[in-house]
Amino acid sequence: MKVLVIGGGVIGVSTAYYLARAGHEVQLIERRDGPAHETSYANAGQISPGYAAPWAGPDTPMKALKWLLMRHGPLVIRPTPDPAMWAWLLRMLRNCTSARYIVNKARMTPLAEYSRDSLRALETETGVAYDGRRRGTLQLFRQQKQFDAIAHDVDVLNRLNIRFEILDRDGCVRAEPALSNTAAEIAGGLRLPDDDTGDCRLFTMNLAKQAEDLGVRQHYRTVFYAFATDGRSITGAQTSRGFYKADAFVLALGSYSAAAIEGLGFELPVYPVKGYSLTMPVADEAMAPVSTVMDETYKTAITRLGDRIRVGGTAELAGLDLRLPPARRAALEHSFNGLFPLGANTERATFWCGLRPMTPDGPPVIGETPVRRLYLNTGHGTLGWTMACGSARVLTDLIGGKIPDINISGLGLARFR
Ligand SMILES: Cc1cc2nc3c(=O)[nH]c(=O)nc-3n(C[C@H](O)[C@H](O)[C@H](O)COP(=O)(O)OP(=O)(O)OC[C@H]3O[C@@H](n4cnc5c(N)ncnc54)[C@H](O)[C@@H]3O)c2cc1C
Repeated sequence: MKVLVIGGGVIGVSTAYYLARAGHEVQLIERRDGPAHETSYANAGQISPGYAAPWAGPDTPMKALKWLLMRHGPLVIRPTPDPAMWAWLLRMLRNCTSARYIVNKARMTPLAEYSRDSLRALETETGVAYDGRRRGTLQLFRQQKQFDAIAHDVDVLNRLNIRFEILDRDGCVRAEPALSNTAAEIAGGLRLPDDDTGDCRLFTMNLAKQAEDLGVRQHYRTVFYAFATDGRSITGAQTSRGFYKADAFVLALGSYSAAAIEGLGFELPVYPVKGYSLTMPVADEAMAPVSTVMDETYKTAITRLGDRIRVGGTAELAGLDLRLPPARRAALEHSFNGLFPLGANTERATFWCGLRPMTPDGPPVIGETPVRRLYLNTGHGTLGWTMACGSARVLTDLIGGKIPDINISGLGLARFR
């Protein structure tokens, strides 16, 4: 089958790779001059099935109010007149119940675990390099009351059979020895030993090369404009470099996916949630994290990527805005310097932002649409790197008429109707 993949982030490139491996004739178009130049460029690097959870939970509204008022807080809302933002927020609020949280998390975890296992298998088979580590992740609680409140999380982890370790202050230092300098800041931690870490951009760039070897034709500096239809099915894609025909079209435009289907008669509730990161060289090996440490207070993830450290965080609702305000940089620096002050010099960091393509309920949107020949692989929100390989494999199976290896009910567009 001839397939056109639209979008060259981690989701589009992974999809193109697995489709080609399954024997399809694949082309990929991307507006930038290479793969992973947008949200997949400098994310926090967690491959984290253990933390694969929706943002919408029963305590999210109360926490959100607190975060909005907090100095260096992790949540920012910049009200825009965009009705899509308010509609998305309302839908998200409707998912803030215990019952919805359990349903949504149960949809996300199997995909995330399948994806991590697929990535590990891919690394073994192809040697694709991405500064990967398999040393778990540590959620760190600075305040005793945060640590005392983990019973609900533990209950959910038990229910989903996810391995975890509850660590006191000394246990946290054993897992991340560089925390010995700032141990007084720590009340305790929750470690997920089966989570991995790695550089999403490096992976995407290296996988794009492997995809090329499999015959995927990649057209960069090619802007997608619109789909052409005959009323029932897609007949082609109009782009800045002409008209592309195919038997199937995969939309993987991240935060720009919703705009791309306008006029096709259905709705895709994917909205951009902006995040920021700092990347800096390790200054002192012994003072740097060995894996990911999630600072629960400021909701940042501090990840070791080879000889660099990345600090990622913040959820900002501001439409497609890509400015880099100094206050957001200061918030990341504050979290990092409170835990690993000697691990790296934040003044030497590169500051970056990206737009997470978020659904209001949490799971991504993978599968067919009401318009024939058009498939979606988008809406991965905070977990696109974690879920990339699994999502690509699921969609490859669906396009090839095969039953995917995991239960995919609740991952499609139908759940929004
Ligand atoms: C601060 C931050 C930290 C994060 N941390 C993690 C983490 O630790 N773990 C994790 O799993 N996930 C994390 N994420 C989420 C993850 O980065 C995203 O889910 C993932 O990158 C989304 O990939 P994508 O391919 O869907 O989107 P993108 O990478 O944005 O790819 C979409 C592509 O479409 C292209 N495009 C858009 N419009 C057009 C057009 N008209 N024509 C042609 N091309 C177009 C863009 O150029 C882009 O390359 C984080 C995100 C942020 C912002």
